Amino acid sequence: MLETSVVQAENLSKTFAGKEGVVSAVEDVSLSVEEGEFVALHGPSGCGKSTLLLMLGGLLSPDKGAVRINNQDVYSLPLEARAAFRAKYIGFVFQQFHLIPYLNVLDNVLVSTMAVPDAGARDGAVELLNRFQLSDRLGHVPSKLSVGEQQRVALARALLHKPRVLFADEPTGNLDPENAQIILGAMTQFAAQGGSVLMVTHDETARAAAVRQVGVEQGKLV
Ligand code: ADP
Ligand code: MG
Repeated sequence: MLETSVVQAENLSKTFAGKEGVVSAVEDVSLSVEEGEFVALHGPSGCGKSTLLLMLGGLLSPDKGAVRINNQDVYSLPLEARAAFRAKYIGFVFQQFHLIPYLNVLDNVLVSTMAVPDAGARDGAVELLNRFQLSDRLGHVPSKLSVGEQQRVALARALLHKPRVLFADEPTGNLDPENAQIILGAMTQFAAQGGSVLMVTHDETARAAAVRQVGVEQGKLV
């Protein structure tokens, strides 16, 4: 494990209490991601990919193990400091977009800046939305958009604050090939500019966009 790794995860484990007893979702996983690296985590449904990604992205505490991002032990931070850390260094894209239904496209991208106004953010958001071919959609609410457009908005939102690491959970899972290529191309470009990308996917084509591919099976890396 290099000291320069942007993401360093050591011995992560997570269990859930289910109806039929305890489910071991992730078991003793160690993984590191370097600056500018685009990594795909792939495996069958239910193998623990989303659980692993949430832990790596600072959104779900592991039962055991540690995650360091930029050499900061993420889960040793108190909740508020962890949220501030995520806001600074981490971008997250979910399969189901999680856009806010009553905000228009521009405000969805700007949502993280509402509490702390940022003068440059609006220009940055407009620029990203132009790049994602959404410049004629700024005033539309998500329900008026296609799923491909909604995912592009979600990606713009995740990239607005220039994170060091982008985490994406099945970002192309609901998309047609053309929209999937737009998303994968943007993530490739983000990595080429020095960002790190960790993408979860069960799609062979999406997987091929990554420079390194890591298999997950029954909560373990293979
Ligand atoms: P994947 O993303 O690869 O489909 P998940 O990480 O979502 O897999 O799930 C891994 C396992 O953990 C599954 O058996 C799932 O049912 C279980 N699981 C995930 N989240 C929870 C939860 N919040 N509560 C209970 N079980 C969960
Ligand atoms: Mg999943």
